[in-house]
Amino acid sequence: MRIGIIDLLGKEAPRNGYSRLMRPNNTSIMPQAIGVWCEEEGHEVHMAYYSGPTLLAGGLPDDLDLIFITAFSQAALLAYAFSNYFRQKGIITVLGGPHARSYPEDSVRYFDYVVGLCDQELLRDLLQDATQHRPIGVHLSADRQPASLPGLRRRWKFLKPAMDQAKILKLVPLIGSLGCPYKCSFCIDAAVPYQPLAYDGLRDDLLFFLELNLPRSVAVWHDPNFGIRFDEYLDTIEEAVRPGSITFVAETSLALLKEDNLRRLKHNTFKAIAPGIESWYEMGEKSKMRSVNGAEKVRRLAEHANLVNSYIPYTQCNLIFGLDVDEGPEPFELTRQFIDLAPGVYPHFALLSAFGRNAALNLEYQREGRVVPVPFHFLDLVQSMNVRPRHYSWSEFYDHVCDTFSYAFSPRALTRRLAANRFTPIALEQLFRGVSSERNNRLAYHRKIRGWLDQPDFRAFFDGESPAIPEVLVDQIRRHLGPLWQWLPDGALHHDPNAYLAGSSSQQLPVI
Ligand code: SF4
Repeated sequence: MRIGIIDLLGKEAPRNGYSRLMRPNNTSIMPQAIGVWCEEEGHEVHMAYYSGPTLLAGGLPDDLDLIFITAFSQAALLAYAFSNYFRQKGIITVLGGPHARSYPEDSVRYFDYVVGLCDQELLRDLLQDATQHRPIGVHLSADRQPASLPGLRRRWKFLKPAMDQAKILKLVPLIGSLGCPYKCSFCIDAAVPYQPLAYDGLRDDLLFFLELNLPRSVAVWHDPNFGIRFDEYLDTIEEAVRPGSITFVAETSLALLKEDNLRRLKHNTFKAIAPGIESWYEMGEKSKMRSVNGAEKVRRLAEHANLVNSYIPYTQCNLIFGLDVDEGPEPFELTRQFIDLAPGVYPHFALLSAFGRNAALNLEYQREGRVVPVPFHFLDLVQSMNVRPRHYSWSEFYDHVCDTFSYAFSPRALTRRLAANRFTPIALEQLFRGVSSERNNRLAYHRKIRGWLDQPDFRAFFDGESPAIPEVLVDQIRRHLGPLWQWLPDGALHHDPNAYLAGSSSQQLPVI
């Protein structure tokens, strides 16, 4: 068969300078792995990277037999429109990626196959079946994550077109483990058992990375939580390559970032690290601070984050706004205190979102009738929150979000961050990101939402009093999809926000 693969790098054209430069770096590993496995099964494979409706790299011939599309939920409507377009041409369509795992009930309405967890055996079965399943597609999922994945050497031919477009910085994706042993109730990876991948494979990835000799390149670990077996991973890296020969980026838990480990990370040129704080209350499993809350937790975490920042120049701490444990102005005030106490740390804020089946906690939100059917297009942890906050009205909540964003990316905070990171190129990149992406884009968008919340129609939708999607949201989707808007299937703007709850008790998805 002639097989196409589309990796959707963004749901819309880049909206600011920062995302324009970084967009080619948003690649996922799984589409490349699918490419390798399809070729091993004897098929001809073509890869295409899209940025919104625009082809960014690679390309597809007209006469495909089957196409894989991988998407996060924020790009789901783009994926649905693509699928409709290809199905009209008689091409079989397959959806994979986080949206397929979170919203299979909705996705089977628009694809012939919807794949949750995928391994080589499942892929082989799918390719042997390869028939149109319409109007309702079939849902397939392996019991577990694959035991192994093709390494960078084999994936490279599929990744290269995107990397060729990354002009300033090339972020090359590597992976050393799947799943996570921690059980954060909001996280898609908490349900996946932790599984290290073979160390021989990692060694070869690193050697091949050096062989590529790409200018301005960085190896980015896509592990959900890098370094769970810290010493084993660092031993592997040190055995494979000379310290300093590769620059690394990883996401990890604060609990793993003890001073000994930080010393070792610095020695091996880990330049950016993103530990999650998530909340100032309760959810401290990752940072080993279960019994510490509020101001004391802020003080201790700021101290720890400053220690991390003294070893790792780009330290980003992730926080979620809108969790049920938050009440009143205090959590936002605590965040502002953290900004003051850890001036060199880059704060990254997300709005609580419940992505269908991706976390057990979502069942609770659905049972309580608090999930708003915000079109998938806005489920990017920034543009909209789809869980009605437990302790805030919408306007109260957005007032706090805007104030905190404004504080964290104020000229004062940006300048302190720049100075704390000693005006290095990394500090300048943070300044560019802070102004372009956070202040001009995200904060401006939150303020727009705050304004729209004063409009009765908009408010009625978010309060669950009206199913009508506000026109300002529909307009944005229309603009972002551009020429693909005409291919968006009827009804795709709407989805059942409680499908997980309904499916967990009765309706089963068709499975082959
Ligand atoms: S530690 Fe991180 S990756 Fe692991 S379950 Fe929690 S949020 Fe998910």
